[in-house]
This record gives sequence, structure tokens and C-alpha cells, in this order.
Amino acid sequence: MIIGSHVHFGKDQLVGSVKEAISYGANALMLYTGAPQNTFRSAINLDYIKEAQKLMAENNIVMDNVICHAPYIINLANKEKIEAWHFSINFLKQEIERCTTMGIKYIVLHPGSAVKHTKEEGINNIIEALNLLELDNCKCMILLETMAGKGSECGSTMEEVNTILKGVHSQNIGVCLDTCHLNDAGYDMSAFNQYLDAFARLIGLDKIKCMHINDSKNILNSHKDRHANIGYGTIGFATLLNIINNEKIKDVPKILETPYISKEEGEKELVYPPYKWEIDMIKKGIFNSHLLEDIREYYK
Ligand code: FE
Ligand code: FE
Ligand code: ZN
Repeated sequence: MIIGSHVHFGKDQLVGSVKEAISYGANALMLYTGAPQNTFRSAINLDYIKEAQKLMAENNIVMDNVICHAPYIINLANKEKIEAWHFSINFLKQEIERCTTMGIKYIVLHPGSAVKHTKEEGINNIIEALNLLELDNCKCMILLETMAGKGSECGSTMEEVNTILKGVHSQNIGVCLDTCHLNDAGYDMSAFNQYLDAFARLIGLDKIKCMHINDSKNILNSHKDRHANIGYGTIGFATLLNIINNEKIKDVPKILETPYISKEEGEKELVYPPYKWEIDMIKKGIFNSHLLEDIREYYK
């Protein structure tokens, strides 16, 4: 099982990220090279890369299972303000360079929101932007994340994702499936094998390079995108466990992006990372109905 979670990327860069993943019992991880909401980025320190690589080797973590997530504010679909669109493309180019320096192979990207454009125009803008990046010359692969279809989000259907993939003149592009987003986009995760069969026919399973494993706070086809802890949402533990253990995608890293836990029930501020406990229950294959209590007890 290749499983991990979203982790921080702080002052000691990849070293801290790897240490955090190890503390959760993970053998995979996903990081943002800075705050997910902004584009301020510090320079990559080569000493930290060496130290992180040593730590990874000691703990059986391979670079294929270290994923980068591009910041949310990159929007390749919206060309209304042409400078903003070029800024997104340039930022992504820099992100590819940072990842290349670190030896990270995969960058997850939200395809983008069309805003005032039609979906079709938005998708064409995404294709045009990705073609400007000349991905054939890049050492990293961009992974289009399947979206919930909130607002004007592009890439919430398999067909939209396929249109983007086919429009890009490079094979150096793949897909990241997000179970919460798929559920919210209208794909029933309890029929995941049927989804995979359709994906295999239209796109090909070899394009799936990363999976985001999240439960959902909302019902099928709600187009909301609010993640829930594993087994605490509408998808449920058994269904998510079946997906994680699916033979056809067994070599694909599974990344948790579930919400942190509040200090007390009902509090708004989310402070405790749940990943150690969620990974533990996934490995055991048994639902922990005291997950929140156990986490609060540990950090108290
Ligand atoms: Fe995402
Ligand atoms: Fe995701
Ligand atoms: Zn999401």
C-alpha cells in the first residue's frame, strides 16, 4: 500500500516534509512548495534535498511517491486578464523548475475555472497554456486533478479531462483522481470499478499517477468540494478502503487531504492533523469510530 497525506513544506523544506510523513507512518507525501493560497516561494536549498534523500532512503520512501500540488490561484482557464493568465503559466513553469531541482516528478494541478468564459473556451485556454509550457522538455509531469464542478470549474467530467489530455501535444501529462471531487461531480464511488473501466476505455489507466483519498461532506452530484475525514462522510470507510485496495491502481500513491480536527467538538479552528490515525485505520482495514476522540486525547 502506497499511502500518505498532505504535509507542510517549511523552513527546512523537503526535510521537514519527509519527517512529517514518517511521523504519520506514511510512505508517500504531497506538499505545496509554499502557501497553497499564494505564490510567494523561497529558493530551494540543495543541502536540504540531500538530507531529505538520505532520510527517504532510510525509510523506504521513493521520489515517485512524493507529489507536489500547484497553488490554487493558478488559473489556466481564465484569459480575461491576459497578464494574469501569463502569470499563471509562468508560475507553473517556475514550479516545474523547483520540482526538477528537488527531484519531484509529479505536480498536481487544478485545471482551472472558466469564470466568464464558456466551459469550452476555458478548456481551450487550459490546452493553449499547457502547450506553451512545452511539457516534452520538462522532467516533471503535470497531473490534472478531477474537480467537483464547483462554480465554473473545468475538469469535473471524464470527458473534459480527456479533451484537455488530447489537446496537449505531449504525453508528459497525467491525471490525479480525487474521491471527494468525483463524488461531488456525480460519480458514485461505490461503483468505482465501473468508473475505472470507463476511464480505461476513454483515457487509459496508465494516465492515473496519483489519487487523493478523501471522504465528502456532501451527497453525490452536489458540486460542493468539502472534504471529510475517512469514514466520516457520505462515501464511507468501506468504499474508500475498496478503492485504496483496488488491484488496478495498487502502485498509484494514495494521498489524504482530509480536514484537521478541532481541539473540542464544535470548535471552528482546526488544529490537529488526523493522518497518523487515518493511515493506521486504513492499514488495519478496520473503521475507528473513536477517531476524533483518539486524536484529541493524544494531543491534549
Ligand atoms: Fe487539489
Ligand atoms: Fe484533491
Ligand atoms: Zn477538494
